[in-house]
Amino acid sequence: MELDSLYQEVILDHYKHPLHKGLSTEKTVQVHHVNPSCGDEITLNILLQDGVVSDVTWDGVGCSISQASVSMMSDLVHGKSLDEAFVIVDSFSELMSSKGSLQGDESLLEDAVALAGVSKFPARVKCALLGWMAFKDAAIQGRDGEKI
Ligand code: ZN
Repeated sequence: MELDSLYQEVILDHYKHPLHKGLSTEKTVQVHHVNPSCGDEITLNILLQDGVVSDVTWDGVGCSISQASVSMMSDLVHGKSLDEAFVIVDSFSELMSSKGSLQGDESLLEDAVALAGVSKFPARVKCALLGWMAFKDAAIQGRDGEKI
């Protein structure tokens, strides 16, 4: 897999210095997602308050793409409303299904545009999406729970 070297640096930096890693005890929902094809695992806690993602923390093991991606995601959705967070997650999902045809919206995805090149490698797309799908799952569970 060949990625632009600047992008590779961004990915490695998140992998070596992950953001929001370490599970917080205060949470609304906890989910655990695995990507068996690569062996990546993520446990993710979110804390929702009045429709806002007031905290998101995670722990995980796996390849650099999966771990860097969840680090980028957690920083992006932290403090956002659920609606804003879903827009960001959908934008990233679209980027990952683009097979290399999209660059990604940097104003929305910030560091996560560094993963744009991953969309050319179907086997690695699951690695990149793991944390985002875990977040979406937790956020939907939490949102539906708040409504009850
Ligand atoms: Zn992986």
